Amino acid sequence: MKSINIKGKEYYEVHQRILEFHKLYKNGCIKTKILSNEDGVVLIKATVIPDMSNPERCFYGHASEWQEDTKSLVNATSHIENCETSAVGRALGMLGIGIDTGFASKDEIDIANRKQTMNSGLQCSKCKKKISFPISKYSKERYGKPLCMKCQKDEKPKGAPTEISKKEDVDNAVEQASKEVK
Ligand SMILES: [Zn+2]
Repeated sequence: MKSINIKGKEYYEVHQRILEFHKLYKNGCIKTKILSNEDGVVLIKATVIPDMSNPERCFYGHASEWQEDTKSLVNATSHIENCETSAVGRALGMLGIGIDTGFASKDEIDIANRKQTMNSGLQCSKCKKKISFPISKYSKERYGKPLCMKCQKDEKPKGAPTEISKKEDVDNAVEQASKEVK
């Protein structure tokens, strides 16, 4: 099964897990059901049955997603699909598919990262260029506002006498921010 390496850990995308499931269990079945869908919060249950001649032996996975930000097109349009993918990924994990390094799938990490991304002001306040979450965090700490790398160079850091935008500083900030994301 093809995996993706994120920060030294191997993860399997849900579609890879599904392919693996169908390869291993020719008589298998994957079902999903929306348990609730209210106020933009959806809860989905996935059921994985490896052998339909023995449906008693089944594995469940649950996931919830919410349309937290109406400005986000992705969440506004596909939180149900994302939720379904997560639930299926977790049910397959219960069966032992793709859990070499834990239950989280690549898709779940993407969702978590996206939520994180949506929650912060990810635009340079000067030139309006899009910036990443760690850069934004670093800049806010250093300059009190989100700035891109280029605009940071023209800005005086608040109360910090040291030369800024050294590569190591940025690397440290990125490292620090990604720790907090988890
Ligand atoms: Zn800028």
